[in-house]
Formats: sequence, C-alpha cells, structure tokens
Amino acid sequence: MAPGKHTGLDAAMLERLEKLAVNIPGVIYQYQQWPDGRTAFPYSSGGMLAVYGVRPEQVVEDAGIVFERIHPDDFNRVVASINASAEELSPWVCTYRVCDPDSGVRWLEGEATPEAQPDGSVLWHGYIRDVTLRVREQRQREELERDRRLAAAVFENSTESIVICDADNRIVQVNEAFVEITGYSREEAVGRDPGFLSSGQQDGDFYAAMWAALERDGAWRGEVWNRRKDGEPYAQLLAISVLRDEDGTVRNYLAVATDITPLKRYEDELEQRANYDPLTGVPNRRLLTDRVLQGLRRAQRSGKALALCYLDLDNFKPVNDRYGHSTGDAVLSEVARRLVQQMRSDDTVARLGGDEFVLLFNDVDPARRELVGLLDRVLGAVREPLLLQGVEHRLTASIGVALSPPDAAEPDRLIRHADQAMYRAKEQGRNGHVFYDAEEDRKQEAAQRWRARIAQAIEAGELFLVYQPVIDLVSGEPISLEALVRWQHPERGMLLPDAFIPDVEGTQLEIALGDKVIALALAQLDQWRAMGLEVPVSVNVSAQQLLEGQFYEKLQAQLAAHPALAAADLSLEILESSALANVERARGVLQDCARGGFRVALDDFGTGYSSLSYFRFLPVDTVKIDRSFVCDMLRDPADMDIVRSVIGLAQAFDRRVIAEGVENNALATRLRELGCRYGQGYGISRPMPAASVPEWVERHVG
Ligand code: C2E
Ligand code: MG
Ligand code: MG
Repeated sequence: MAPGKHTGLDAAMLERLEKLAVNIPGVIYQYQQWPDGRTAFPYSSGGMLAVYGVRPEQVVEDAGIVFERIHPDDFNRVVASINASAEELSPWVCTYRVCDPDSGVRWLEGEATPEAQPDGSVLWHGYIRDVTLRVREQRQREELERDRRLAAAVFENSTESIVICDADNRIVQVNEAFVEITGYSREEAVGRDPGFLSSGQQDGDFYAAMWAALERDGAWRGEVWNRRKDGEPYAQLLAISVLRDEDGTVRNYLAVATDITPLKRYEDELEQRANYDPLTGVPNRRLLTDRVLQGLRRAQRSGKALALCYLDLDNFKPVNDRYGHSTGDAVLSEVARRLVQQMRSDDTVARLGGDEFVLLFNDVDPARRELVGLLDRVLGAVREPLLLQGVEHRLTASIGVALSPPDAAEPDRLIRHADQAMYRAKEQGRNGHVFYDAEEDRKQEAAQRWRARIAQAIEAGELFLVYQPVIDLVSGEPISLEALVRWQHPERGMLLPDAFIPDVEGTQLEIALGDKVIALALAQLDQWRAMGLEVPVSVNVSAQQLLEGQFYEKLQAQLAAHPALAAADLSLEILESSALANVERARGVLQDCARGGFRVALDDFGTGYSSLSYFRFLPVDTVKIDRSFVCDMLRDPADMDIVRSVIGLAQAFDRRVIAEGVENNALATRLRELGCRYGQGYGISRPMPAASVPEWVERHVG
C-alpha cells in the first residue's frame, strides 16, 4: 500500500467501518474502566440504542446508565465477569438480561477483548447483541425435553398399566406395569389388538357400548375382566382416552388401567358371604328373596307361574344326632348338590337353614304336570342311597308347593304358604309333595286359633270334671265314679268333650289336658276322702297321653302330692286302645301302672279290630263294653252277640266287665242275666257335678 494514498484510503475505510458499525446487528463498542471505578463507552455504534435503549453520546463519559439497565438478578454476575476479564486480561463473554422499560426483559450476549492502558485503566473492544429470541427458543426446547423426560418417567414408573394404540387400535407402546400385570412382554404386545387380553367375560354389547362412548365422549371408564398370559383372569379399572390431531383425526388411544383384582375378590367374598349359604354354597334366604321378586315379575310378564317349593328332609335329625354335626353337614352338602343337579338353568335352590331348602321354578305351566314331574325327580334324587361311615342310608323329603299367582303376591307370603303345604306333606306321610290350598289353609288357621283357645282354657281353669257312677248291677251300690271333662266356656256355655278333645288329638295340648284332668280328679278325690267318701274315681287316658314319655312318672308324682290317697283310688280308662301305635310300649307303661297299684280298664271295648289281641296282651283288669253295642242290644241281635261274647271273653280271662250305656232297667236286667256284673249309664245316673256326688252315693250305699 503506497503511503500517498493512505489518507484517501483512510477516508474510504472509515466510511466502510462506519457503515459496518451501523448495520451490524447489535452494538460494537469500546468500554473503559479505571481503577477508581469510573466507567465509560468512549465509542459505541448506533446499535447502542437498540441494545441498551440509550444513545452512544449519553455514555461516552459515564457508562452508569447502562449498568442501571442490567437485570438485578444478573447485575453482580455481569460486574464480576468484567472485573475478572480486567484482572486476567482474558476475553469477556457474558449472557445476561436487561430490563427495558419499553420491551420488557431481553437477553443480551456480549464478547469483548480487554487491553491494559498505560494509565492503569482497561479498554475493551467488543460487541453485544440481542439474543432474546435464541434464548427463548432454547428455553422452550429445554422445557419440552424436561416434559418429555418426565412423561417417559411417569410412563415407565407408573404402577398403572398404560397401553398406547394407534388409530387402528394396534398397540404401539406398553409400559413396565403392563408387562408385570399381564405377563406379556413388550415385544409380544406391540402390534396386536388389545382384544387378545380379553377374558370373554364381557360380551359384544359391552365392547360396542365402550366404542360408542369413545366415539361420542372421547373417553370411557369402566371395569373389565381380562386374562393374564398364564390364563388367570384379572380385573382392572380401565380409563381409555382418544388422542386426536389438531384437525380432529384420531391419532392414538391411551388406555390406563389399575389392577383391581384383589378388590374384586374382596368384593366377591363379601357378596358371597351376604348372599350364599357357607355350608352348601347355594343362595341363602336373602338372595332367595331377590330371586323370588324377580321370578314374580317374570311370572307377571309371561303369564306363567313361579313355583316356590319348600323342601324339608324327613329324617335328618337322627342322622345328625347319631353321626355328629360334621357328618350332618356333609349330608346337607350332598343333598344340596343333588338338588342343584335336578334344577334347570334358571331355577334356584336356596338353603334357609337346618335341613330346609327352597326350590324356585320359573315359567311353570299352571297345569302343573311338568312341575309334578320335576318334583318327583327331586324326591327321587334325595332318596338315592347315601353312605355314612360305611352304612347305607336313605333320606326322604317332604315338599310344599306354592304357585304364584294367585296364591300370593309377595315373597314372604309365598314362602309361608309353601311352608304350610310342606307341613301337610309331612302329615300325609312324608316323602311326597303337597300343593298349597287356600281353603285348607283357612281351616288350619281356624283350628290353630281354636287350639290356642283351648290351651288358654286349660291355663285359666275353665275345665272341670263331672262324675258318672258305675254300679254293681246286683247290689245297686257304686263301685267307682268316672270323671268326664267339661269346659265352662264363657260365651258358649258348657261344652262336652266332643267339642274340643278331637281338636287337640295328636298335639302337645292333648298331654296338657290329660295332666290337668288327672290333677283335678286327684284334688277332688282328696276332698272326698276327707269327707269319708271312699268310692274310687276313674279317669280317661288317651293313647297318645299314655305313650308320651314319663306318663307313669308324672302320675306317681301327682299322686305323691296327695299323701292321703293311694294308687288304688284312681283307675285309668285307656281310650282308642285300637289306635295304640306302639303296643309294646303301652304294655310296659301299663305294667308299671299295674305294679304301682293303679287299676287299668280298656274303654270302648269292641270298637276296634284289634281290641281282642290288646285285651290279651295288655295288663288290664277291666273292660268297658262300648255303649254303642249296649244301647241297641235288645233290638239288634248282632249287638247282642257282641255284648255276649265280650262278657264271655272277660269271664274266661277273669277280667271285670262294665257295660256302658245302660239307659234303662230292661237293659240292666238283661245284662245281669248275661253275667255282666257292672253297669254305667243314663238309666242309672247322668254325669253329675262333684257337689252332687256325696248325696248320690249316700242314697245308693246300702
Ligand atoms: P267315654 O269315656 O266312653 O265316656 C262315656 C261317655 O258316654 C260320656 O260322654 C257319657 O256322658 C256318655 N254316656 C254315659 N251314659 C250314657 C248313656 O246311657 N247313653 C249315652 N248315649 N251316653 C252315655 P262324654 O262325657 O260326652 O264323653 C265322651 C267321650 O269323651 C268319653 O267317652 C271319652 O272318650 C272322652 N272323654 C271324656 N272325658 C275325657 C277326659 O277327661 N280325657 C279324655 N282324653 N277323654 C275324655
Ligand atoms: Mg271312659
Ligand atoms: Mg266308653
């Protein structure tokens, strides 16, 4: 370069530099800092205004106002970096913020080279530019990256299984929890339709509803049973969301699922406990009530009937007593199993407790024929032999059936009706079924009420005894007094035994009544003995009363309560002797009675087939010829024959014979001629109140 041209070139160069300084983005500058702390920008390009918001000439002498712009959080750092650069004379590089009153916070980036000056100051040459945009973009990128990493961590570490599918419902990603829960690896899952997990417990309708909800709401939530790779079903609470592009097209399906299998199992267990019988596993009373309600509604719609069958085993108690409860339980489970086997798919077997079951049959034809067939099969199944500790047993059952409608409209009533019918099945000999009958039911209810009334009468002392003498037909003297029960009914007046005794037959009341009569008779006897009246009293004893346990012991105890009395004061007239169900036992009891000193008579003799055999077998000392033969014997030769042969028989076996129904003198005379020594009847005396007895006896004792 020639020296002569230097000035010209300098001018051009200056211009060029000036242009450069004006157009370069940012500011190029000289910055100077003195040891005493003074600062200045001896030169700065026009960019100073854009970068710091100040004009170059404002900072030629003093840079202070530039420092005022620096963001307070960055201030110290900037100052420190300048000082370090000054000290080490190393390049200054710094990125920092300024606060611009107009445009807010902006990011600047500066770079400058320091130069020590002879006067001890440092002079930098450098440039600063606005990098706000670049920094913001970087920040955003960092944030995105952070989010992405977080999402990935959430995805991987979630205890909920996450499945992401593409728009064609093919799995594109699954997380670790999915692998753990399902047992399928990522590789096995990716690319498949999640349907491969299905357990088949949900039907097509279920999935159709799910897809419809996804379509409509973009999301679906629900419980789903799926199957693990090892085949085990598991329950999940599943939430599916549809992920769409900005333009609305489906991009992904996101399925997040919590394993709720333990919860479900717990829930099932609770349900099981609340609704099922723990021993047999069949529904309990509570679930039965539900099923009955359902059945009734169904019957209403279909016009067919719901049949509720109450089944009670006939002979379960002895099994339980003999083999113990665990065997009893096993028997009940077996019975339940057999019953279930006989049911059609939508019928129900329930256990109410003990040996009582209920069978529910839906859609029963009112003609009942099919039902009867079903019940026969059920009874047959129960009868199948059963091995108990190596011994073969056969159980039977009684079934009561109530049909709806019109028998009943509500579950409880239906069950009650079936129960009542079941009792009738028992009465009718067990091992069978009986349909509920409303008319029968009304009768039974009335009978039940009447029995309750009789029980009350016994308690309240409304029963009393009248006495009818039995006399020696030769001497005319009384040999005993028969006690006959009467009921002084407050509204209906005095009732004869026929009005209530038949109604208590076969029930506990019959025993209570018998006990009461004996107590009354003994009390009366005691009173008469005290007055010096010595005639014995006979009481009527029903077969059931005799056979019920403890008859003799109770009789003894009652007698013992009256020390003035002896067993010989009381005789027993055994009624319905032909109906003695257990003759052996009757014989045992009567032997006790005879040994105890009580006299025993067979009442109503001649009315039953087996009277004769009883007569020989039972330890009795007296027979009473039934009044039905005696009354008519003068007119009816057949009756006469019977009377004659009974008298002959009694004589042959050396038994005392008493003729009942001696209504007149002619009968008395004829009986005497036939060899019958004793008689009783209206012709001699009607039954009389206790108060009339002493005077009557007085008159007839010679
Ligand atoms: P039963 O033991 O054969 O009693 C005789 C019944 O014949 C009595 O009727 C008596 O009043 C009736 N009678 C007596 N003489 C004549 C007569 O000459 N002609 C006719 N037609 N009847 C006569 P009652 O008191 O109505 O008793 C009827 C039956 O009730 C008794 O027959 C007996 O089977 C039963 N009974 C009476 N009291 C009791 C009792 O305390 N306990 C039990 N379990 N049954 C009793
Ligand atoms: Mg009698
Ligand atoms: Mg009699």
